[in-house]
Amino acid sequence: MKHTPTPAGLAALEAQLAQDLEFLELPAKPWVPKRMHDGVPVRDVVVIGAGMCGLAATAKLVLTGITNVVAYDAAPAGFEGPWVTFARMQTLRSPKTLNGPSLGLPQLTFRAWFTAQWGIEAWRSLDKIPRGQWMDYLVWYRKVLALPVRNSVCMTGVAPVDDLIAIDVEGAETGRVLTRRLVLATGRSGLGGFAVPDFLKGIDRAHWAHSADDIDFDALKGKRVAVIGAGASSMDNAATALEAGAGSVDMLIRRKEMPRINKLTGIGSQGVVHGIYHLPDAWKWKFFDYTAATQTPPPRSSTLRVSRHPNARFFLDCGIVAVKEDAGGLLVETTQGPMRYDFMIAATGFSNDFSDRPEFAALAPHIRTWSDGRYTPDMGPPRTGMLEAPDLGPAFEFRERVPGSCPMLAHIHCFNDAAMLTHGKVSGDIPAVSAGADRLVRGIAASLFAEDVETHFANLIAYDTPELLGDEWVDSTPLLHKEAAL
Ligand SMILES: Cc1cc2nc3c(=O)[nH]c(=O)nc-3n(C[C@H](O)[C@H](O)[C@H](O)COP(=O)(O)OP(=O)(O)OC[C@H]3O[C@@H](n4cnc5c(N)ncnc54)[C@H](O)[C@@H]3O)c2cc1C
Repeated sequence: MKHTPTPAGLAALEAQLAQDLEFLELPAKPWVPKRMHDGVPVRDVVVIGAGMCGLAATAKLVLTGITNVVAYDAAPAGFEGPWVTFARMQTLRSPKTLNGPSLGLPQLTFRAWFTAQWGIEAWRSLDKIPRGQWMDYLVWYRKVLALPVRNSVCMTGVAPVDDLIAIDVEGAETGRVLTRRLVLATGRSGLGGFAVPDFLKGIDRAHWAHSADDIDFDALKGKRVAVIGAGASSMDNAATALEAGAGSVDMLIRRKEMPRINKLTGIGSQGVVHGIYHLPDAWKWKFFDYTAATQTPPPRSSTLRVSRHPNARFFLDCGIVAVKEDAGGLLVETTQGPMRYDFMIAATGFSNDFSDRPEFAALAPHIRTWSDGRYTPDMGPPRTGMLEAPDLGPAFEFRERVPGSCPMLAHIHCFNDAAMLTHGKVSGDIPAVSAGADRLVRGIAASLFAEDVETHFANLIAYDTPELLGDEWVDSTPLLHKEAAL
């Protein structure tokens, strides 16, 4: 059944949202004292990244009355995050009913946005959310909340200036911006970059790509393609290559068996959302080590999207030992023997290796990670990705490796996937992003209030608007004296 959107439905939803916000007295009144530094205005908070997490964080800040805020994103408007850039799945994996970044406001959910335009019948018949439609929803979310986002602006550096943070920006806005708090909502590649296996280092980029690269799939027509990995991105990249007419696509999967159970999603609950942060470190390690060991399976639909092609093959227990280039393309030594390909796609994920990102050069050596004493061998096997994870405080703030070496870290909040080991999955995926934004903003609000405590106390003393005008009662003491004198 084809459904046409009704703009009137969206307008009605927006009116309802405006009314709900008014009923809830949101946004709260601005309360953070203005700051200047050498005549230059200082932001209360700068958010880097206006993907789903950056938008949720910015919205929560504004609703909490922290309004001197700006979010920058390197991508042009409507192209933030993976959804219409390097994501190659047809639909989201997540169920359509998740309340995502709605921050507890029913009218801000994907479901409200969808049904307002296409109706309840269309909602019932919707299976999973098409990825482009999820992007459309995020574009609306930003618009309807009038969030202060500036696109095509890249943060290129961070430096301390007294007790403030100076960030360098380039692009549609260029220069230095001073801020009291910095939120890094920089996504899956978070603080690092693409995780690239050693055997691909040094191989000509004409012969391979990372799954998050901008890949020219048309150029793979008729070619022999290998895809490394068995995750969602492996399947979606393989399917895209097959649909573009690749001659053959081999899935090279190191594991003996395909992961088939989505463990952490399976036990998802408000207990997990709010509880992980408060667990002892050994328990956090245990949860995420087990999840890393069991791995997340690719979605069934993505796997079928590959296997329905007769020229797709799945090789399990097929580790890659070495890759060489020669006149015939790529010669890949695997645990199953040598294989030949024209092109390889590494769906090998992302890393937390800060040294990969020049904009974090000033911070990287000072950031305390789990390997700096938080992990002990009795917790479980030492996994590199987890050891590199930053050791964060209660509001996602970084900690210093050596106390006193980089105090601004206490004011820089890591609101991205790299926070998972410390905070659980509240700053990356759709299910708990509102809870994450709430935790982040409560922490920022409390620390800004504490930092300005003298001003707030001075305001308390200076406040002199009477509630009582003095004409509401009569002092009876003179009467008492009069009676005593009789
Ligand atoms: C292919 C794919 C599919 C996914 N599907 C699902 C799903 O179905 N369900 C689910 O729950 N989760 C899914 N996820 C996980 C998660 O929901 C997404 O990664 C989501 O985009 C996370 O939002 P984010 O805001 O943290 O990061 P992003 O959406 O990646 O946004 C980060 C933003 O930061 C900007 N940025 C980074 N560095 C800078 C800089 N220096 N200066 C300025 N801007 C910068 C980037 O341009 C980007 O727009 C998926 C992830 C991927 C990669």
